[in-house]
Amino acid sequence: MQYRINPRSGDRISALGLGCMRFPGPPGRPDPARARELVARAVERGINYLDTAYLYPGNEACVGSALVELGLRDSVLLATKLPHGSVRRAEDLDRIFDEQLRRLRTDHVDYYLVHNVTSPAQWERLRELGVEDWIARQRAAGRIRQMGFSYHGSAGDFPVVLDAYDWDFCQIQYNYAGETYQAGTAGLRAAAGRGLAVFVMEPLLGGRLADRLPDRARRILDAAATPDLATPAAWGLSWVWDHPEVTMLLSGMSAPEQIDENAALAERALPGSFAPAQHEVISRVVKEFERTNRVPCTGCNYCMPCPQGINIPGCFSAYNASFAHGWFTGLSQYFTASAIRTSEPKLVSNCVRCGACVRHCPQHIDIPARLEEVARRFQPGPVGWALRAWSHRG
Ligand code: SF4
Ligand code: SF4
Repeated sequence: MQYRINPRSGDRISALGLGCMRFPGPPGRPDPARARELVARAVERGINYLDTAYLYPGNEACVGSALVELGLRDSVLLATKLPHGSVRRAEDLDRIFDEQLRRLRTDHVDYYLVHNVTSPAQWERLRELGVEDWIARQRAAGRIRQMGFSYHGSAGDFPVVLDAYDWDFCQIQYNYAGETYQAGTAGLRAAAGRGLAVFVMEPLLGGRLADRLPDRARRILDAAATPDLATPAAWGLSWVWDHPEVTMLLSGMSAPEQIDENAALAERALPGSFAPAQHEVISRVVKEFERTNRVPCTGCNYCMPCPQGINIPGCFSAYNASFAHGWFTGLSQYFTASAIRTSEPKLVSNCVRCGACVRHCPQHIDIPARLEEVARRFQPGPVGWALRAWSHRG
């Protein structure tokens, strides 16, 4: 395993971290046995950073149990996140953090993040509730070692958030298709330039730069493949590791074999290892990706559940697939995502525009408006009437 150093703490962190959000199991109920197997394999392969969050349903408890049962708590750096929207009063900080420690079955968190910051005003509100003193007390008591934030706001606001507190680290969305999206390359350099450790999430855009890459983009990568860059995932992850400013990237690996593959890549993908010709290949892939990337959904599921039962990420994935892999491929995926062959189909046209999903989306997608586009693509005119009649039968 390749390790990189956190400039603030001196921690030696594996270049590949385990993002636990995508643990296998039904939504909201990660499978403890399979999670334990993944954690064991990750540590065996040299991974020493595990990332979870209060808001990932059932996830903190699953991570905590796995670490205790495997006796690995002291072998890893454990990260979890503060759901700032749930902090209404100063007392909520203790209440939430105590609950997190209980769930995680530990007496301290190594890396604690304010989760999903999208504007400087969110930190300012926490500051007015006394969060800075609260952090100082937790640090003094040894309950928090490093303090940071995860970010999904604009490029312009990012430096403001960086300078709003004496952070140890930050976590940004970063991949070859998003150099100017959210914090982007400018944000990566700004954070590293301030001496922060920078952790990267969504290096493969929830799989959209891996197995779901558009066909034409995939052909470009295949034509330029080398033993170290044999798959789209290898290209995507290695591109991120090529940046010396990146301390670690998180991958939401959900199978032991995936951990093996990514850990092997992490051993070889050193900073600056991409040749100019390989950067040129990536530029061509980005052009192809952008041509078919209609909705920037990463499949994070934060918007779920929809009260109308609509599978929002599944429908967006089908919509994007219809441009990347052909209309019939997308339609087939839409049929699955909307359960159209069942007695209770959940069509995108069932959206009542309640807005419950929109405020949770870290990608700031206008979900009801974009679902209308999905409906126009897969349920046009008479097809839509027939499907709606079918879905309301009985
Ligand atoms: S706006 Fe539409 S998609 Fe979003 S939660 Fe409401 S019904 Fe579901
Ligand atoms: S629509 Fe937004 S919140 Fe929902 S899965 Fe996609 S990126 Fe996540």
